[in-house]
Amino acid sequence: MHIVMQIPAKVNLSLDITGKRPDGYHTLRSVFQTVGVFDRLTLTKTGADTPLSLSCDTEGVPCDARNLVWKTAVCLLGENPCGVAMHLEKGIPAQAGMGGGSADCAAALLGIRALLGLDVSDKALHGFAARLGADVPFFLAGGTVLCEGIGELLTPLPDIPECTLLLAKGSEGVSTPEGYRALDRLASPPADDTDNLLRALETRDPASIFAACGNHFDAVTDLPEIQRIRSIMRAHGIRPVLSGSGAAVFGGCTEPGQAEKCAEALRQAGLPFVRIAKTVPFGARIETESEQ
Ligand code: ATP
Repeated sequence: MHIVMQIPAKVNLSLDITGKRPDGYHTLRSVFQTVGVFDRLTLTKTGADTPLSLSCDTEGVPCDARNLVWKTAVCLLGENPCGVAMHLEKGIPAQAGMGGGSADCAAALLGIRALLGLDVSDKALHGFAARLGADVPFFLAGGTVLCEGIGELLTPLPDIPECTLLLAKGSEGVSTPEGYRALDRLASPPADDTDNLLRALETRDPASIFAACGNHFDAVTDLPEIQRIRSIMRAHGIRPVLSGSGAAVFGGCTEPGQAEKCAEALRQAGLPFVRIAKTVPFGARIETESEQ
C-alpha cells in the first residue's frame, strides 16, 4: 500500500516579534498562510519487521535520524521504527523561512497514521506535532491562521480569496538566532503589522491584504541577494516581504502579467529559486492512496 502526501509551504503574511520571555523564547503575533510550493512524501507499507527507510531526491537533505520525517516516525512508532519506506521530493527550499521541514513533519504524522491505521486521535496527533516543532501543528490543517504566544496558540481565520504570490530566494540562508539577536539590539522595535493585516483580511481585497503585509525581520536582514530581490520586485510594483526569518522574499501580485515579468527579471539576475504560486486553503494532505 502507498500513500502520497502533498505538502504545501507557508509564508508569514505578517510577523511581529512582540517580546522575549524570561526563558529566552521570543513571543510573536503572525498570520501564517499556506502556499502552492510543494514537497511530496511517498509512504509505502513494508513488512512489519522491515526497518524504516528514507530516501530523498535532493542532495544535502539528511536521510537518517536527523531528518524531521524520521523523527516523526520515531515519535509515532518508537525507537526502532519498522514497516514504512519513505521517499521525499523537495520542492520547498531549505533555510527559506517557508517551513519545509515542519511541513514534512506534519505530512509524516498524518501519512503514517493513515498508512498503518494507527489508533491515534487528532488530539494526540496535535500533541506529537507540538513536541516535534513550533510550526508543525499549523501544517496539520494549514490555510490562514493567526499564530501567537511562542507559536503554540493557533486561531484559524477565514480562507482568503486565492491570491498570486511571487517568491524568490538566493543561495544564501540566514541564521534565525542571529536575526533574533539583531532584533533584540534595535533601540526601538519595528512597527507591528498584524492588527492592520487582520483588518485588511476582512476586506477580502488582495491589494489591501498585500499592502498590510510586513515582517519585523525585514528591518534587520540585508543580505545582498535579499536586497537585489527587493529592488527588482519594487521596480515591478510589488511590495517585497520576508517570510519567517528569511531568506525567501514574497510579494503579492494583483496586476495581469506582473508576476511573470518580475519572475523573468529575477531569473535573469541569477536567483536560483523563483516561483509564482497561489495561496492554498489546506495543509499537508493525502494526494493519492493505492492498495498496491
Ligand atoms: P523554517 O521555515 O521552519 O525556518 P527552514 O527555512 O530553516 O525552515 P527547512 O527546510 O525546515 O528550512 O530545513 C532546515 C534544515 O533542516 C535543513 O538544512 C536540513 O539539514 C534539516 N532538515 C531536517 N529535516 C528536513 C526535511 N524533512 N526537509 C528539509 N530539511 C530538513
